[in-house]
Amino acid sequence: MDPQAKSQFFSFPVEIRDAIYTYLVLNAIHVFMRECNPVISTCLEPNIGADFSGWERKPDPRLDGRNDADAVWGRRLRSSWGPHWQCEEVAQTTTVMTLFSVCKRMCMDIADVLASNNVVFHVTDLDTLGHFAQSLSSSQYGMLSPDFRCIKKLHITLRLPFPLFQALVSDATRTSSPDSIQAPLHRNAAEPDPVDMWLEVWPALALQSQHLQHLHLWLDHDESRPWYHVDERTVLSQFFASMSSTNIVGLQDVTVRLPNLHPLHENPDLHFTKGSSPPPACATVKRRVRQRHFYDETAVGDGRVIYEEDFPMLFELVELHDSPFHREEGLSITREELEDMERGLWERGETPNMAELMWAFGPTCELLAI
Ligand SMILES: [Zn+2]
Repeated sequence: MDPQAKSQFFSFPVEIRDAIYTYLVLNAIHVFMRECNPVISTCLEPNIGADFSGWERKPDPRLDGRNDADAVWGRRLRSSWGPHWQCEEVAQTTTVMTLFSVCKRMCMDIADVLASNNVVFHVTDLDTLGHFAQSLSSSQYGMLSPDFRCIKKLHITLRLPFPLFQALVSDATRTSSPDSIQAPLHRNAAEPDPVDMWLEVWPALALQSQHLQHLHLWLDHDESRPWYHVDERTVLSQFFASMSSTNIVGLQDVTVRLPNLHPLHENPDLHFTKGSSPPPACATVKRRVRQRHFYDETAVGDGRVIYEEDFPMLFELVELHDSPFHREEGLSITREELEDMERGLWERGETPNMAELMWAFGPTCELLAI
């Protein structure tokens, strides 16, 4: 007799079991590699459209009982999972994968839920994307689902080393002009070349993601220097060329969320600026406030948190004006309004400061001066 037939859990109707699985798996999951094996964990679904400066990652020692609050803050600020830093902490202690190891029948049940419930799959590193892009039927992903290629919603969050972005531009320059000198990307010779990984993963992923409908890419580098140093058009050329509705027939939308550009340093030849050549059809570039707190490692195992200003310089005003009083009086400010006003100041050759904004917002900001 099948021992699972004795299981009280499997005596429940399939609808009940599916409801339990759905509750456990939630709406979104992270997939990542651990010791060369794919691992799944739950996603806490942070609002990646919100303005995160990094301050929100600072632990409150009174609440957490931590004496190492600065060290924890520093680790969180360096998280390669970006706005999913809390998901990374969850993944370090628990994974959904344990459900798969209960028994084969439960594994197959959960695989069906993942396949049919429009679950959002989150990936936060190139290595895992590379595994996605492999022939999935022969990989361990094949054990998770009869057809893992049925993914409809894929969210990719990549906070990559700044030298990789430089190397991608150097590679493109060398390809178009063979006599040019390529900037070296320091790495372990035993590791795969990240430039090759970046350039090869997108066409391969497009081949393996033929059911993909919604694709989201969150991109950043891991240094405190401003984002405008990155040649967005060159870096994203292979991504846009591959992850398109031409190559993936059912693809409905591609959203690329990039950090803000400083108005004085944006360049339509390098960046997707307002009025310049847009990304390909079905793709949208959105901007966000970039992380402003960074961990500066001054020695091995030692460092401090530093703050780097970025555009808009005074975005905290948005929070200050997000009070019931300001909303009732119609005096609240949206980030878009603040950015438009600050952009105007920069373009007129003026340096924005609190006094300027108080003047511009009249009674709204006069309250701040009290
Ligand atoms: Zn997450």
